[in-house]
Amino acid sequence: MTASVYLQAEREKSLKRKHPWIFSKAIAQVKGKPRSGDTVDVYDAKGQWLCRGAYSADSQIRVRAWTFNPDEAIDAAFFLRRISQAQQIRAQLFDASQTNSYRVVAAESDGLPGITIDKYDHILVCQLLSFGAERHRADIVAALTSVFPDCVVYERSDVEVRKKEGLPLVTGWLVAPPNADDAAATQVTIRENGMQILVDVAQGHKTGFYLDQRDSRAAARRYAAQKTVLNCFSYTGTFALAALKGGALHVTNADLSELALQTASDNVALNGLDASKVSNVKADVFKLLRSYKEQGQQFDMVILDPPKFVENKSQLMGACRGYKDINRVAMQLVKPGGLLLTFSCSGLMEESLFQKIVADAALDAQRDCLFIERLQQATDHPIASFYPEGHYLKGLVCVIR
Ligand code: SAH
Repeated sequence: MTASVYLQAEREKSLKRKHPWIFSKAIAQVKGKPRSGDTVDVYDAKGQWLCRGAYSADSQIRVRAWTFNPDEAIDAAFFLRRISQAQQIRAQLFDASQTNSYRVVAAESDGLPGITIDKYDHILVCQLLSFGAERHRADIVAALTSVFPDCVVYERSDVEVRKKEGLPLVTGWLVAPPNADDAAATQVTIRENGMQILVDVAQGHKTGFYLDQRDSRAAARRYAAQKTVLNCFSYTGTFALAALKGGALHVTNADLSELALQTASDNVALNGLDASKVSNVKADVFKLLRSYKEQGQQFDMVILDPPKFVENKSQLMGACRGYKDINRVAMQLVKPGGLLLTFSCSGLMEESLFQKIVADAALDAQRDCLFIERLQQATDHPIASFYPEGHYLKGLVCVIR
């Protein structure tokens, strides 16, 4: 018997808009004894059916909706259908000869809460963040094998949020290649807009790489001609590759990670680019920007792509200060008339607030800032109308005078 979850009165509004989360506070009663991962039916206070979702006994998000269709069962066919739909959307986005790696499934935005699947050439990387996703691991792998018969599958469920769910952190092959024991098995060279990029799906950040910045890197390439570029929070230096392809005179990559910077050098060589045009600086960007300022060093273009500053609402104020501070110093390093490409990947930071912070930073820096282009996560990271939180990555291209 499927257990039933009844909401408090007036708590069904977001579900009627197809937002997929049900918080524990919204629940009046649970009938049956669902275990975490079980599929439950959700009803409003008057007993009207709302959705079917995965129960998570210890999470604040107590139920994540799988479907708003009462006739849809949550079984192997369901996962095959959803993953096939997601892939059909992606199939029209890329010229495979130029770009062979993309996000196949973007969790809630693709109707699969807690499930992220990235494709790096022939390696699919799967991240399962909720009990519901965990329960259906075998169905997900079967669907992937059917949609991508030539791919192997690696799991990167080593994200802290799994602990909030009460799940252990796990990594490893779900569909292994013949050389699975070899460290090289998790390494792959991907193509992005004609650039070759090294990715290690076991050692890399998140699922291995920041696919979401593909369009921003393309923008950097358009603006880079004849410019000196400072690429802050460079990771494996792919903004640098794009800038060099666009005719940049010189790029300085700055990151804390030694391994990322080593890969940045390897990426330059792999693309046959001129290594003398690239410097890699292992440093804390916050300190580095200040020391460049003291030295009076300036650049034609500064790229600022920091990690997420905000995990929850209580951190938002502090994060605003952090963003303002770093943008102010970055602007001071831009030559008059040069460019700042600035990003926030914090979902809780709304676009309008981010723009206001950058505007305040310009005032403090005593510089004028003209917004000439808006950027966001690449097209394979869609934003569902019912899940606006899915718009997490914001970017502004600014002329700094
Ligand atoms: N721009 C990259 C992605 C950046 S992700 C790309 O397009 O691929 C954020 C990066 O910031 C990570 O590589 C992380 O190692 C680095 N990082 C985090 N805190 C840092 C700090 N204080 N100083 C320098 N690098 C930092």
